[in-house]
Amino acid sequence: MPTSSADLDAQDPLAPYRVRFVGSASSLVYLDGNSLGRPLRTTADRLATFVVEEWGGRLIRGWDESWFELPEVVGDEIGRVCLGAAAGQVVVGDSTTVLLYKAMRAAVALQAADPARTELVVDRDNFPTDRYVADGVARECGMTLRWIDVDTTAGVTAEQLAEVVGEQTALVVLSHVAYRSAWLADGAELTRIAHDAGALVLWDLSHSVGSVPVELDAWGADLAVGCTYKYLNGGPGSPAFVYVAARHLDVVEQPVQGWMGAQDPFLMGPTYAPAPGVRRMLSGTPPVVGMLALQDMLALVDEVGIGAVRAKSVGLTEHAVELAADLLPDVALASPADPARRGGHVTLSHPLMREVTAELWRRDVVPDYRDPHGLRLGLSPLSTSYDEVERGLRTVRDVLDGLR
Ligand SMILES: *Cc1c(COP(=O)(O)O)cnc(C)c1O
Repeated sequence: MPTSSADLDAQDPLAPYRVRFVGSASSLVYLDGNSLGRPLRTTADRLATFVVEEWGGRLIRGWDESWFELPEVVGDEIGRVCLGAAAGQVVVGDSTTVLLYKAMRAAVALQAADPARTELVVDRDNFPTDRYVADGVARECGMTLRWIDVDTTAGVTAEQLAEVVGEQTALVVLSHVAYRSAWLADGAELTRIAHDAGALVLWDLSHSVGSVPVELDAWGADLAVGCTYKYLNGGPGSPAFVYVAARHLDVVEQPVQGWMGAQDPFLMGPTYAPAPGVRRMLSGTPPVVGMLALQDMLALVDEVGIGAVRAKSVGLTEHAVELAADLLPDVALASPADPARRGGHVTLSHPLMREVTAELWRRDVVPDYRDPHGLRLGLSPLSTSYDEVERGLRTVRDVLDGLR
């Protein structure tokens, strides 16, 4: 029998934080914080204050006073609190998709001195946008995609990567936590394997940042990108971040060379010269309003500590796995059973899960569905209770029973 949810909530040192999120008092069960995190209550006040005092009060002066630097200020905060990245290597702007494009092109340019490196390595179960962008970059740069076939209930292993990298590899693009299975890749080991072959590595941290500790500097990663509207609760369409390791910053070039990434934007000069440092990864005007909510969540993760967030995340996914085994005997676990190899969500597989998900949404239980047959339970550590997980899984059982 799984431990009782009431006991787990009573012993949870992070339980008191849950009331800080909008909607946490309602009976709705929210199991999709890995697609769109709940807003913090403080964010409502922050947005209102921003409109009245900063935007409305400071007007264009706001750019000189703080907005211009915000992509670097918030980038450094994400780096320090969540990514194990020293200051000066992370900047916020654009969407993850656009930053993937810029980062992949930057990596290809960094490898230009070695024309034999013509391959981009991607796994077939990487997030669609990562695969599509890699495909476009390969076509644009006259390169070839080298695919890794993966088990969709797991992800890329060290052995699989070692098999495909070599003198022909320019770049390896990997997700740290797989969006479908939650497979937690070994960041240090996979980076080392790519580097031993002379390749660069671009990590997609969209499903890790804010829930799983990341150590980009210690891994020796080259580039990374990630979303802020998932576990960083930045709100729909909040901007993404990009990391470029300090050792590449003097020479890195990206293809959308706009004025906001230029050395002196307000000189309005005749030609582009890149800004020093990671700011050169920017292109146009930074999305200032989009960074406000995310700053609130970062402050909270900083207060709690990413280690404590991860500990609760493991507790929640273990509880979900145990409850599912108990309540849903004919449903298969489509995520790693070992919590050390699993990120912050759990996917459960059954042929009826598409129909189940639609009915769950009608009953105010909100997970999401991923082919094939996957019910994906995203358990955002600071806004989800153990009891919420149990209420969700009991409703899954009721809905499944009703459909059979
Ligand atoms: C969510 C997610 C994205 C989303 O990219 P957008 O440009 O924000 O739509 C990209 N990659 C991964 C791995 C994701 O999980």
